Amino acid sequence: MQRLWGRKVSDLAFGEFLRILEWVAKKKNKQVLYIDRWIPSSKTCFHCGHILDDLDLSIREWRCPSCHSVNGRDENAAKNICAVGASTAGLGDVRRALPAIAV
Ligand SMILES: [Zn+2]
Repeated sequence: MQRLWGRKVSDLAFGEFLRILEWVAKKKNKQVLYIDRWIPSSKTCFHCGHILDDLDLSIREWRCPSCHSVNGRDENAAKNICAVGASTAGLGDVRRALPAIAV
């Protein structure tokens, strides 16, 4: 977030940043959604929903033991947060459909 907003984020208290974000969203007729801070967004495989027991902060990429997909920590977390936010907003489940496997 700091990369996106530059010095502004570090200069302001985070609560102040959120207040400004809500103000801008309201002005642009957008909605800011909050999700539970304890949702395991990094440890949950976006593809199959498998949740790892533990994921060290130094591990930036991991292979899902269930579906064997390789997940980048931040990208996977962002997708999970987006899915939770979308379902919170009543947009339904935005989880990507699994490809059909022909046998
Ligand atoms: Zn998986």
